[in-house]
Amino acid sequence: MTAIASAPQVPAAPAAGRPFSELPLPPRMQATLEQLEYLTMTPIQAASLPIALAGHDLIAQAKTGSGKTAAFGLALLGKLNPRRFAVQALVLCPTRELADQVTQEIRRLARFEDNIKILALCGGTTMRPQMASLEHGAHVVVGTPGRIMDHLERGSLKLDELNTLVLDEADRMLDMGFYDAIAAVARQCPRQRQTLLFSATFPEGIARLAEQFLSKPQEVKLLEQHEDSKIRQRWYEVKHEERLQAVCTLLKHYRPVSTLAFCNTKQQCRALLEMLQAQGFHALTLNGDLEQRERDQVLIQFANRSCSVLVATDVAARGLDIAQLEAVINVDVTPDPEVHIHRIGRTGRADQDGWALSLCSPGDRRRVAAIAGMTGSEPEWHGLGSLQGGDDSPLVPPMVTLQILGGRKEKIRPGDVLGALTGEAGFTREQVGKITVTDQYTYVAVARDIAHEAVRKLAAGKVKGRTVKARILAE
Ligand code: ADP
Ligand code: MG
Repeated sequence: MTAIASAPQVPAAPAAGRPFSELPLPPRMQATLEQLEYLTMTPIQAASLPIALAGHDLIAQAKTGSGKTAAFGLALLGKLNPRRFAVQALVLCPTRELADQVTQEIRRLARFEDNIKILALCGGTTMRPQMASLEHGAHVVVGTPGRIMDHLERGSLKLDELNTLVLDEADRMLDMGFYDAIAAVARQCPRQRQTLLFSATFPEGIARLAEQFLSKPQEVKLLEQHEDSKIRQRWYEVKHEERLQAVCTLLKHYRPVSTLAFCNTKQQCRALLEMLQAQGFHALTLNGDLEQRERDQVLIQFANRSCSVLVATDVAARGLDIAQLEAVINVDVTPDPEVHIHRIGRTGRADQDGWALSLCSPGDRRRVAAIAGMTGSEPEWHGLGSLQGGDDSPLVPPMVTLQILGGRKEKIRPGDVLGALTGEAGFTREQVGKITVTDQYTYVAVARDIAHEAVRKLAAGKVKGRTVKARILAE
């Protein structure tokens, strides 16, 4: 704790608006920033870049979307020697999606040098191609702690020449049980290095991490405060044949608005979907057999809260990024611990709590042990029996999706639809949810109790000066 308590606090100006030209960055980097239309620094960039560029260790409090990637990206790129084909910077991120985003952003920032190689190393894909890429050499590696540890153990990744270690979204990594993995990776980095830690919140584990792995860190905090985000993980022991029914029991007990249910196989997805729909849940599934438009419609209904449960395999859910997800249910335990971590990392985002509920039959015990081993956390066991006899009313999503014939091709914008519903039709802003415009159709979520009236009024009125056809997509 002392490392943090004694560190000077640099309060960030709330509205930074300061130009990047204030920073000691090479002209080519300045040019890239101009090209990207990064005209002024975001507050976290203005607060942390001077410290990071001066070579200090840093603890920065910053929420999602605040521009952290450039804050550490510019710092680590500034120190790279492109002619040395060795990993000089490592960024640890909680999930594959975040690692991919960071990789892309650093690639954009590195445009000024065309021979800088930035490699993403995450779980969920096979090791072999990653090992081949590593053999060709990379300057920057971005990855999830578990997979990075795997590469270190196999000797395919060497960190002897590393000079910058970044812990991005450190609190989320801790929520996901990555403390030991982070510690193991940090121990393999040279002592002489710069460590930059970014976190939206400061739970106790962050202080421990900082104390162990940062040296005389300076701390920057944005004035805005954020709630803790937390993934609450529970394991339920079930007999294999009770699995599908157990999902219904969990949904009725926890009553999450949006749940992503992971199965290991397509057959299991199909079986679960049938069971859920038969029991009156609003459930949909994603699979490779869907046409693009059908896939879009499933994702739209799930993201706008008019579908309670999305059933998917890991492959089908790849790249899926849903902002508000109250629960992830692992219908089957995955054999790959890192996949488990990716699955549960989709809930508990930003300022919200999230449930990660996993069903485990006796045959899955080894898999659970592997997950516990990797995350260094003790599984919390619960019995389904404690859930029975709860609220038996059906779980109904709060919204309904309306489909309007006409989209981008007709130059419809979300504002046109919102205007039609809140103007003449007389609905309130709160009764209208997410509006998604695709090429041919526009989808709008409305509160369930006004769905029929909204369709009638949309059909009777005008959107963008024209009469439109609208229907309820599914109820
Ligand atoms: P975080 O990691 O804090 O969630 P990101 O680094 O992903 O945030 O940045 C969020 C978005 O803001 C990205 O689209 C990024 O390209 C953009 N961005 C970052 N810095 C600036 C800047 N100085 N000016 C304009 N846009 C920026
Ligand atoms: Mg980020």
